[in-house]
Amino acid sequence: MRTLSHFEQLVVASPMTPFLVFVLGACVGSFLGVCIERIPRGKSIIFPKSRCCCGTPIPWYWNLPIVSWCCLRGKARCCGASILPRYLLLEGMMALLFLALWPMGSPMEWLKNAVFVSLLVVMSTIDLDTMEIPDGLSLGGLILGLIGACLVPNALLLPHAGVWTSFVAAFRGALMGSALLLWIAILGEKLCGREALGFGDIKLMGCIGAFLGTQGAVFAIFGGSFLGMLLLLPYLLYSHYRHGKSWTLVTQIPFGPFLSLGAISYLLGAHRLMDFYLRTFIHMRPFI
Ligand SMILES: [Zn+2]
Repeated sequence: MRTLSHFEQLVVASPMTPFLVFVLGACVGSFLGVCIERIPRGKSIIFPKSRCCCGTPIPWYWNLPIVSWCCLRGKARCCGASILPRYLLLEGMMALLFLALWPMGSPMEWLKNAVFVSLLVVMSTIDLDTMEIPDGLSLGGLILGLIGACLVPNALLLPHAGVWTSFVAAFRGALMGSALLLWIAILGEKLCGREALGFGDIKLMGCIGAFLGTQGAVFAIFGGSFLGMLLLLPYLLYSHYRHGKSWTLVTQIPFGPFLSLGAISYLLGAHRLMDFYLRTFIHMRPFI
């Protein structure tokens, strides 16, 4: 492990840090809500300041993450219009994710992971809304992942790596992640006779591979598909038997959020569960 700087030691030792990490996560969640709303429309994410749907500017004290939504009970102060619960969910989810990532490494590793998770949440929500992932986010994220590998070389990617080794691992992860998904897309197209995955997902895998390396990228694809299947199966069964809808419904659902879910699970340590399962399975195999 890299020796922590004096500042990092102070941050780790302070009992206030987890609370501040939670608050920061909620504030980032609030900012991501603005990004999700404005990026697909090609608008600036900084100006103008937030306004209600009736046009009234929202003062800062009615724009506090989590607290304002709860105080206002989801209704705008000016005109009583509903504020979508999705903003509250986004702020709460980011606060919890930032807090969950805190014990995973040094403060610098946390910062890198927090940037990565924020990018994934923005890309996934935009993918859910528009069925597209903006290149600026996926390719920009890939470049950020490569820079992050150089700046924080001993992150989750490779525990004892130097700058060059870490960069090569991130670069290889980006290439392998997108190449693997590209081959799955080609095979899927041949088998189904139509496009099963978009290029947006392949670029997103480049970003995931740059942050998590090859192992993380492979986990994101297969772990994400598994989680997606678990989440979608009850819905598909219900639609199929209740409304007689086609099983092909699943192809109209964006894959980006599931890849992101796989990547975040890997970051939070889900791969250890899988390693444990495989070790146990391999260990038990001679007895079967
Ligand atoms: Zn209003």
